[in-house]
Amino acid sequence: MITRRKFISQNGILLSLSALPGALVSFAPAGTKPETAVFDTIIIGGSYAGLSAALALGRAFRKVLVIDSGQPCNKQAPASHNFLTQDGEKPAVIRNKARQQVAAYKNVTFYDGLAISGSATSNGFIVKTQQGHQFTGKKLLLASGVKDVLPDIAGFSACWGTSIIHCPYCHGYEYGHQPTGIIANGDTAFELAQLISNWSKQLTVFTNGKSTLTTEQLQRIQKNQIGIVETDISRIEHQGAQLKALHLADGSRHPLQAAYARPKAIQHSDIHQQLGCELIPQGLIKTDASRRTSVPGVFACGDNSSFRSIATAVHSGSMAGFAINAELTGETF
Ligand SMILES: Cc1cc2nc3c(=O)[nH]c(=O)nc-3n(C[C@H](O)[C@H](O)[C@H](O)COP(=O)(O)OP(=O)(O)OC[C@H]3O[C@@H](n4cnc5c(N)ncnc54)[C@H](O)[C@@H]3O)c2cc1C
Repeated sequence: MITRRKFISQNGILLSLSALPGALVSFAPAGTKPETAVFDTIIIGGSYAGLSAALALGRAFRKVLVIDSGQPCNKQAPASHNFLTQDGEKPAVIRNKARQQVAAYKNVTFYDGLAISGSATSNGFIVKTQQGHQFTGKKLLLASGVKDVLPDIAGFSACWGTSIIHCPYCHGYEYGHQPTGIIANGDTAFELAQLISNWSKQLTVFTNGKSTLTTEQLQRIQKNQIGIVETDISRIEHQGAQLKALHLADGSRHPLQAAYARPKAIQHSDIHQQLGCELIPQGLIKTDASRRTSVPGVFACGDNSSFRSIATAVHSGSMAGFAINAELTGETF
């Protein structure tokens, strides 16, 4: 994170508070009130999507503030895959390198903390943080990601991201052709069974209660020699984060190397709601191809509004950066 001294020298600002709890506080250009410092763009979320947008905007000489609470969704995964040049790298290494490169642009400022509110004003947006600071920007970019709501099964959260995985493109190769479970029911179970059958033929679907698959789905699953177990899961046996077996309520034990699950993912932040951004039925923020939301001046990128992968987050962040810069330029040209 940028130091206070460095921040002051770069931005020519007055600090309005003397106690600094590790992060930047209210500030403004010298001689003005703290509330009057205006960023071209405030980005909420400083992971892959937010940093990608910050890079595009930083290189366009825009004054950018990136607010980040440091809780990316893949923080538990030991390695990240399927992102060119970084295959197998630790997620945090990719993020830290990205942040370091973005921080080289002096017009990009970082604030480590949680944004708790966002509101529109006549000429931009005000964002307030949990630490009590307030920032003003002409445009607002939501790059806040989503949060996985993990099921309450003993051992599930310990294995999440390592041997209980959400996506075969990210981690399926490492568990290819191994005894694999699918912890899901209904349409999700069917979709995963079909997809994962490409990675392993030793597949069993654990519906964790009565199956809600349709007769046709069940027939197609059985035709592909995929087992179905409807008994409740009582716990997940693991060593470290490595799945060993599922234990069921009837006392049976099913050895597995890996399992797939698609827990419910919810928006990480409710600021989109405060601003009135429309959602699509899947709960993602609705955007156009340039990442504009339904609220003028508010953009969204990354997991909160797209398919989940680092490549997609980086792509959508770039698109948002380009669109924001074009909008800002159009307003003054
Ligand atoms: C377990 C797991 C493993 C994965 N493995 C892979 C993989 O191998 N390859 C791959 O391509 N993809 C993988 N993914 C998907 C990938 O991690 C995501 O698509 C990517 O992280 C999305 O980036 P993002 O910037 O949109 O969101 P995130 O990376 O989730 O970051 C969102 C950021 O916003 C911050 N934030 C949220 N709300 C606020 C707020 N109010 N104020 C301030 N900051 C806020 C968070 O703290 C966080 O830092 C994996 C996902 C999971 C869950």
